[in-house]
Amino acid sequence: MPASHTVLIIGGGAAGIATASSLLKRRSDLDIAIVEPADTHSYQPGWTMVGGGIFKAEETRRTMESVMPAGVTWIKQSAVSFQPDRNQVTLEDGSAVTYDALVVAPGIRLAWEKVDGLEDALGKNGVTSNYRYDLAPYTWELVRSLKSGRAIFTQPPMPIKCAGAPQKAMYLSCDHWMRSGVLDNIDVEFRNAGGVLFGVAAYVPALMDYVEKYDIALELGSNLIAVDGSGQKATFATEAGEVTCDFDMLHVVPPQVAPQFLADSPLAGESGFTDVDQHTLRHVRYDNVFGLGDAGGMPNAKTAAAVRKQAPVVAVNLLRQLGDKNPKAGYDGYGSCPLTVERGKIVLAEFGYDGKLLPSFPKWLINGTRPQHLSWILKADVLPWVYWNAMLKGREWLASPKDKSAS
Ligand code: FAD
Repeated sequence: MPASHTVLIIGGGAAGIATASSLLKRRSDLDIAIVEPADTHSYQPGWTMVGGGIFKAEETRRTMESVMPAGVTWIKQSAVSFQPDRNQVTLEDGSAVTYDALVVAPGIRLAWEKVDGLEDALGKNGVTSNYRYDLAPYTWELVRSLKSGRAIFTQPPMPIKCAGAPQKAMYLSCDHWMRSGVLDNIDVEFRNAGGVLFGVAAYVPALMDYVEKYDIALELGSNLIAVDGSGQKATFATEAGEVTCDFDMLHVVPPQVAPQFLADSPLAGESGFTDVDQHTLRHVRYDNVFGLGDAGGMPNAKTAAAVRKQAPVVAVNLLRQLGDKNPKAGYDGYGSCPLTVERGKIVLAEFGYDGKLLPSFPKWLINGTRPQHLSWILKADVLPWVYWNAMLKGREWLASPKDKSAS
C-alpha cells in the first residue's frame, strides 16, 4: 500500500513551505507531507545583494529542517511523475504517495545547458551568475577586481524568475565602479533577448535614467547562445545574425524552463508549467490539484513576492475543496521586483496581471516608479525578515487572500 496524506506538497521552496504554513494556520491538525530532496532552503532574492557585496551568502541560506513547519511529514526525495487520475505521485525510489489534495510547487529549472559551453565556463575567467548560491560571491569578487575592460550582462527569453534580476546585478556593479572611479574605463553592455528594458512601461523611464547615468550600451533582441570561457568570448543570436564579443566579466542569467517531470505530466499546460486557473490557482482539469510559485502556469511575474500572495489563496481554496466547496479566494497576479538601481536606492516595481500597477504603500510614502531610499530599506532589512518570520510561518502580512470575484 502506498503512503497516503491528506495534503501532499511537491517542493519545499518558498511556495511549498508558505502554503503548508498557511494551511496549518487555518487547520492545525491537517495531515500534510512535503516532498523535497534538498538539505537547504535559500532566500534567493538575497543573491542579488550577495553579488553586490551587501549580504554574505550564508545569510541567505538555512537548513531545510529549520523551515519545515512543525507537524509536517518531510519526504526527503524528488518526485519523478504524477498520476492525477489515481491521486498519486511517484518518487525517485520507485515508491508512491497518494493524496486527497495535491500542491505542485517544484519551482522553475535553470537550463544552463541551453547555452553552449556555459556550464563549464561558470565560476572562472570572469564568468558568473547571481542565479547560483555558490556563484553570487564570485560576482562581487569580479566587480571589486575589475578596473577596466568590457562587462556584459545577459538576459534570456522569458519566462525567468525575477525578471529584474539581470538588471539589478548590472546597476549594482556599475554603482560600485562609479563610486570607485573606474566606470569610465569599463564598457558595460546589457544584452537582453527581449525587446524592452522592463515589461511594465511605468518603470522604464526611471531605469533608462540609470542606463544613461552609467553609460550602458543597451542591446535588445540579443540572446546568449555560446560562451568560450578560457577565450573570454560570448556569442549572441541577434536579428542581424550571430555576434561574438570579447569580455572581461560576463554575468549570465540562464534560460529557464518548467521542471521536466512536470512538463511531461498530465498536469502541464502547453508551456510545461502547471495548468491552473490564474485566479483560483486550482488545476483546470483536476479539482483537487493546486499550483503556485515559479512552476505555476499563471502569467504573473515569477517572484517570491507573488508566492506571498498566492500561498494564502491556495490554502483557502484547497481547504474548501476538501469540504467539497468551490474556490472562494482569488489571486490578482501580484508580483514585485525591487530594482536595485544603486546602493541605497530602489525602483520598487509592484504589478499584477496585464501590467496593472498594484502598489502596497501610498504614493506619498513609496512612489515605486522613482528610485527611493525607503524601498532600499525594505529590500535590505525588512523583506528578508518578513520572508523567514512571516511568509514561511503562515503570518500573512500584506497578503490576506481576496475574494475571487475581486480579482
Ligand atoms: P523555489 O523557491 O525555487 O523552490 C522550489 C523547490 O522545489 C526547491 O526547494 C527544489 O529543491 C524543489 N524541487 C525541485 N524539483 C523537485 C522535485 N522533483 N521533487 C520535489 N521537490 C523538488 N523574488 C522576489 O520576490 N524578489 C526578488 O527581489 C527576487 N530576486 C531574485 C533574484 C535571484 C538571483 C533569483 C534566483 C530569484 C529571485 N526572486 C525574487 C525569485 C524567487 O526566489 C522565486 O520566485 C521563489 O523562490 C519561487 O518559489 P518556488 O517555491 O516556486 O521555487
